[in-house]
Parts: sequence; structure tokens; C-alpha cells
Amino acid sequence: MTGFQQSEPARPTGPVVPIAGRRFHAYTAKHLDELTARAGLSPAERLAVRAVATVLPFRTNAYVVDNLIDWDAAPADPIYRLVFPQADMLPEVDVGRMAMLLAREAPDAEVRAAAHEVRMGLNPHPAGQLALNTPALNDEPLPGLQHKYPETVLIFPKQGQTCHAYCTYCFRWAQFVDEPDLKMSMGDAGLLVTYLLGHPEVTGVLVTGGDPMIMGAPVLRRYIEPLLDPRLDSLESIRIGSKSLGYWPQRFVTDPDADDTLALFEEVVASGRCLSFMAHFSHPRELESPIVAEAVRRIRATGAVIRTQAPLIRSINDDAAIWADMWRSQVRMGMIPYYMFVERDTGPQDYFAVPLARAHEIFRDAYQNVSGLCRTVRGPSMSATPGKVCVDGIAEVAGERVFVLHMIQARDPGLVGKPFFARFDPAAVWLSDLEPAFAGRFPFEPDHEELPGLWSQELLEPVS
Ligand SMILES: *Cc1c(COP(=O)(O)O)cnc(C)c1O
Repeated sequence: MTGFQQSEPARPTGPVVPIAGRRFHAYTAKHLDELTARAGLSPAERLAVRAVATVLPFRTNAYVVDNLIDWDAAPADPIYRLVFPQADMLPEVDVGRMAMLLAREAPDAEVRAAAHEVRMGLNPHPAGQLALNTPALNDEPLPGLQHKYPETVLIFPKQGQTCHAYCTYCFRWAQFVDEPDLKMSMGDAGLLVTYLLGHPEVTGVLVTGGDPMIMGAPVLRRYIEPLLDPRLDSLESIRIGSKSLGYWPQRFVTDPDADDTLALFEEVVASGRCLSFMAHFSHPRELESPIVAEAVRRIRATGAVIRTQAPLIRSINDDAAIWADMWRSQVRMGMIPYYMFVERDTGPQDYFAVPLARAHEIFRDAYQNVSGLCRTVRGPSMSATPGKVCVDGIAEVAGERVFVLHMIQARDPGLVGKPFFARFDPAAVWLSDLEPAFAGRFPFEPDHEELPGLWSQELLEPVS
């Protein structure tokens, strides 16, 4: 089926943001009661939202509140749902418990201890991130680095572990709460360079967070400039993963360090490397305001490339027309669609999950209705412990209904690009819900004839 209404792609005609003079200012849990009142919530509903915000992070800002949210449609508005916690994101018992503590103004320590208990039930670090992907230098682990696929190293700069606003569905939510043991970060690019000198297979570094663009230009430079070292000649690309184009495009236009930031991007390009700005856009409305168009124009003028990605989220963007609209607007503005992700198995996943069968249908219906320039996008893709698994479709093979899958990325590069099958299950939302079809195991699982490998079934389950 193809049939959705072809909508006009977003054009930069949204509300005009004053081009100068507005500095970044975050709204936090302190402002939650006032903001949810604006959405028309009752006192009891507002208390429940505050209860959720003791467990999951909340942060937004004036641009999101004044320019992106449609308050007439709140609390159903997708951008409202993108940033505001919902009372039913956590199990009722947990919300009730936290609400009771808030209502009787329990001491901070008591609230924190209870919130900690609830968080531990939410699989804070999915896909074995802490245990499996932390590399080492001379047997010393390098926290704040992740090296999962041979060609790419992720870095989590210490000063980049927050965002201009938080998404309710964030799979890195554990980075932003008051739990020191749940954080990964690094403070020194020196060790990174040493590591890279010993790993010539690495062709790219991905600076991530949080949001690296929360860092001012001088701090960002401390992480990026060392990577331009001519000895690192196998390094081809530097990526920056960021939602700042959606949440604070002023970062590239009117912020005091906008020009210095763009000059740094130019230096990366001048060093003979690709600066790829990996922009996270969740909804076409984020592309509408004129200041976003200007920010995109200025970033592209440095020679950087902008690629786009987002997860598919129930009640926010689970509609083919939304994705087709988003990809078309992005291509119109000169950006390259890259990934559609499946919501990960962490935090309030039950709340936001879209079944894999439905995710594929949304992807396909959107993909069928856009030009080849939008079809650079891949997905729906699950970033799971063994790698990125793409749902290619549903087929009938030898009388059996199956999911057709392939790995876009794998710890074992030999598995990339080879199709495999899982039994069809309309309710499956994640890789761990799937059973192999026509085989005793998935290709990324160990062959029991061989030595026990790293990839046991337990590792596909949420990591505790
Ligand atoms: C997605 C991802 C990458 C990058 O993969 P590409 O296919 O090159 O975009 C690198 N490391 C990790 C841990 C990832 O999840």
C-alpha cells in the first residue's frame, strides 16, 4: 500500500526568531509545574509528570517552548511529547511512589534513593555499552571512548554530556541523571590521539554525548584540533552527533561563538577530512523556522556535510507521511538522510516502542514516495549488542512468514550485508524478541560446535 496524502514539504515560513540578542537559557524540572499548567494539565496530572521527572531527565529551552511546540494542541502535540515527560511513561506503582514523596515534600536524599531504584529497572546502558565497548590503552580502560566497529571510535567529551533540550525517548538518558556510575565521559583528547596512533584501522571519530554542540567553541576545539594531527593520516572523517539544529539553531547563527565554531569546521575540511554533522531531527516541524535554514546554510558553507537521523517513536513520528515530509525537506535544504532507528531497549521503551513489522511498513511507505535523493536513508535499524540490524521486510519463504534482516554494521565485519531470517512476530519490538528461521541460530550467535563466543543469547537481553 502507498496511500497517504502527499503533503507539501516544510518550507522555512515558521515563526520568526529574532536574529540577534537571545542567549541560551534552559528550563529544568523547577519550571515543570508552570509549563505543564500551560498545557492544561490538572494539578494531579502535573504532580505525576513531576514524579516521572525525578527518575528521567527533563530539560528544555525558550526556543523549543516558544517556537516549536503547538500549545493549542498540547499535551497531544508531538513536539510537546518529544520534550515533556508523560505521566504514563513509567509503571503506575513507580509514579505513585515518587508522587507521594513529592506530595509530602520528602527530603532530597529520600527522593533520590527511590528514583535510583526505579532507574535500575530501566536497563540504563543497553547493548552492553559499558562492559563491551570500552577500549584500553596499555591495559588501562579508556572511559569516554567506545570502539565497537573497527573503523569508528566514539568519544564522549566530559563537557558535552548535556543537550539544549532532552528528548523523552533518549536512549542515553542515563547520562543525564544524578547517577555518577551511569556516565561515560573523557576529559582529554591526548589519550585519544595515542589510542588512534595505535589503531590505523580507525578511519573515523564520532564526537557524541549528550550533545557536543553544547560545548563552546574553545572547548570543542580542544577535542577536535588534536585530531587534525598529520600523523593521524588514516583518519578520514570527524562526525559530530547533535540535535542542536532542532533544539537551538542559534548555536550556528547568533550565539557569540557561532563564527568560531564554523571556523573550526572549516579547519577540519581544510585538513583534508570530511566533517560530517550528524543532525538528529525527530519531526518535520523542527525544519520549519527560518533560523534553521540559516544554520544549515552556514554549516554547509564551511564544506561540512549534514546527514540526518532519528528514531521512530510511537506518538511522535510513527507515520509514513511525517518521514517522507522530513526527508524531502532535508534534501531540499541540502542535507542527506542517513538512518531511521528503532527505539532502543532502554528507559521507557514500552511507552515509545513501535513493533518491527509496523516500523518496516512506515519506512517502506515513506521510502516509496520520495525520490532517490532521499533514499540514502537506511532502516529501520536496531543498534543492538552484535551490531546494527536492519529490517528489510516481511516475506513468505517456503510457506513460512519471516522477517528478512541484514546487518548494516557488525562487530564481526564478515556478517555485514548478508541476509538472514527470523520468524514473523507482529508484536516483536526488538532483536531479543526474535527467533531464527531456517537455522538453529542467528549468524551473530556463537556456533556451539566452536569455542564459546562472545555472543550468547543473554547478551541480546537487556543488560542489567
Ligand atoms: C552506529 C554506530 C557507529 C557508526 O556506524 P556507521 O554505520 O558508520 O554510521 C559506530 N559506533 C557505534 C557504537 C554505533 O552504534
